[in-house]
Amino acid sequence: MQRRTFLTALTAALIAAPVSATVAAETLTVYTSRNEQLIQPVFDAFTKATGITVRFTTDKDGALIERLKAEGENTPADVLITVDAGNLWLAKRSGVLQPLTSDVVLQKIPAHLRDADNHWFGVSLRARTVMRHVERVRADEIARYEDLADPKWKGRLCLRTSKNVYNQSLVATMIADLGEAKTEAIVKGWVANLATLPFPNDTAVLEAIAQGICDVGITNTYYLGRLVAKNPQFPVVPVWTNQQDRGVHVNVSGVGVTKHAKHPELAKRFIEWLVTSDAQKIFAEQNHEYPVVEGTPVSPVVARWGTFQASQTPLSKAGELQRAAVQLMDRAGWR
Ligand code: FE
Repeated sequence: MQRRTFLTALTAALIAAPVSATVAAETLTVYTSRNEQLIQPVFDAFTKATGITVRFTTDKDGALIERLKAEGENTPADVLITVDAGNLWLAKRSGVLQPLTSDVVLQKIPAHLRDADNHWFGVSLRARTVMRHVERVRADEIARYEDLADPKWKGRLCLRTSKNVYNQSLVATMIADLGEAKTEAIVKGWVANLATLPFPNDTAVLEAIAQGICDVGITNTYYLGRLVAKNPQFPVVPVWTNQQDRGVHVNVSGVGVTKHAKHPELAKRFIEWLVTSDAQKIFAEQNHEYPVVEGTPVSPVVARWGTFQASQTPLSKAGELQRAAVQLMDRAGWR
């Protein structure tokens, strides 16, 4: 115990001492698809805690993976941060990540929220679940994603476009859990119930429910969190789906060390820091997401929605079955 305290103090002293002399060596470069407003506080807090400077570039998920591929050994990036297991899976598959060995990370992040070969790790969690108008739809009217295929919802459902990776991951994990035939029948039912053409983003789906264009939809929870934070009267609430069987579909934002990282040790320190309660709190408070590390409190808006049973299906399925999901949605006529 004493020895450990001593080492911690020593490490702290080393970090605190010659900051200016080590600045050049102590800069971590990150490529991230997360918006600057959200990710800047994360980097600031990391720098404050460790003295390590972060230089970062933001772009779309696909563009960052392409860029890493094109740059190869010459990339300045040490770390990739992106959203959705489908993208993380693609990054691994594209050969732009390398495995990270860290007991701390393995111990703190549940196995189904990270890559089995340690190429990527989920660092914040979001549920993609059914949303209902708080007055026009009673809580007991929907219990499962499957229920939205019932003709009862004809002309009452809003969805985001199938080109969006979040929907692809939802359908891919349904294929993993239910098989392709059952999933296709459900998705066809959803398409038959659409009130209007699919929307370009989740916020538009939620606003359409609020405005009465439709009564139910499927979106990520943090988009609702943002709307409710701005307007506490926003008339949409989540339904915790499939609580009697496979649980709510969840996905992650995640991180991995790049294949040609020049500072793998800094990358490791960064990722280990991301699973501290300080970092987890930032994701929870700034973006109304759920922590991946147990025991971190959620934002007050999110706390009001109560707790739920999340699916334990490995998120790597979102990548493995992405192509099948895209083809299935296409067959079902989901634009
Ligand atoms: Fe998003």
